[in-house]
Order: sequence, then C-alpha cells, then structure tokens
Amino acid sequence: MMTNHKDRSRTVNIDIQKDLFGANENAAKLNADIFKKHDIVAIDIMGSVGTGKTQLIESLCEHLQDKYRILMLAGDLATTIDADRVASHGVDTLQINTGTACHLDARMVRVALQKVNLADYQVVFIENVGNLICPAGYSLGVDKKVVVVSITEGPYMIRKHPLTIKHADIVIINKIDLTNVLEFDIDALEADIREVDATIPVFRVSSKTGEGIDKLIEALNL
Ligand code: MG
Ligand code: ZN
Repeated sequence: MMTNHKDRSRTVNIDIQKDLFGANENAAKLNADIFKKHDIVAIDIMGSVGTGKTQLIESLCEHLQDKYRILMLAGDLATTIDADRVASHGVDTLQINTGTACHLDARMVRVALQKVNLADYQVVFIENVGNLICPAGYSLGVDKKVVVVSITEGPYMIRKHPLTIKHADIVIINKIDLTNVLEFDIDALEADIREVDATIPVFRVSSKTGEGIDKLIEALNL
C-alpha cells in the first residue's frame, strides 16, 4: 500500500527560548502559590559576583531576624561559602548548587523548597547566581526582584546590562561607604538607571555600615 508521505511527514518548529521561558513561567506561578499559601515574603537578589549580595542579605537578616523567621536560599555553581556566611548569623540556609547553570530557575527553587518545612519561615531571601545577565530573565515566583550593583564595578554596569533593570522591581547601589575613596559619581550611575526605567525605586546602601538598609526594608514591605 502506498503511503502518502506528504501527510505523514510533519514538522514542528520549536522556539527553544519561548518554550523554556514558558515552562519557567508556569513553574514560577507554582512557587508563588506555595509562598502565598505559607504567607511567606520571598525576595530574589541578583547581581554580579562581588557586588555584595551576601553582605546585603547578612545586613537584612541582622535587622529582621528578631521580627521574622528567615530562610536563605543560596544559588551558586559550587561551594557553600555564601550560605555559611549567612548561617553564621543564626539564619537557616539552604544551598542550591547549580553545577553549570549560570542562574536559578523556578524549578530549582521548588526542588529546594521541598527540602524544608515552609511553615517554619516568614521571609525567604534567594541569593541568585553571581551574574548580571540571565538571572533577570527567569521568574522564580518571588514578591520582588532586587538588582544589586555596586560602585566597585566601575561606572558602566547599567549601560552594559540595561535588560536586568527592566526585569527588576528595586535597584540597590551598594558599597556607598566607598564613594569618596573611589571618587565615584553615584548620580551618574543613577541617571543610567533612570534612563532604562524612570520610576524604579533606587536605594543607595552600605551593607557594611547599615546605611540605607531601613529604607530598603520599608520598600520590601518587611
Ligand atoms: Mg555572594
Ligand atoms: Zn544563566
């Protein structure tokens, strides 16, 4: 019997990017439901290596740990260095070693959340993998996405990574205690942020001295 190959041979074009992001968005919605069910405020903290994400979380925990039961999820290719630092403050931590992945995705976060008793926590800080590029594109199901830039990275971080700002809810300019030493023009950096997003909240913070942390906490609704 002859087969009509024209009918049997079919093609489907998969837009890998779209498919990947679509699946992640669904997983992120599940995470958001889980956080909501447990009345948890979840914050995703993104930024390059060395911007002070861990120190920021340490400072936030110092200010908040009498008020809330906090869990920190730390995303890293390897090592538990960051998680250990935060744990030394008496905060529960869970390391997500991503192996080769340069960002956390929603599924990784869900797998991690299955390892803990969420009824024990009210706030979850997620330190994303140190990288200013792709973490912004992956929703994790959090309440707020925070981008940390610091004045030690030089003046062009925002101009080189405008998309990150577009995906963020809050921008932090960290390490302002070094402004004078480095003769850094913070106003110019903030102007670059404003160029991408005219209304996004920007906070100038020193995680080291605690300057600006209270205002940030207010903005996080904590
Ligand atoms: Mg870190
Ligand atoms: Zn990545």
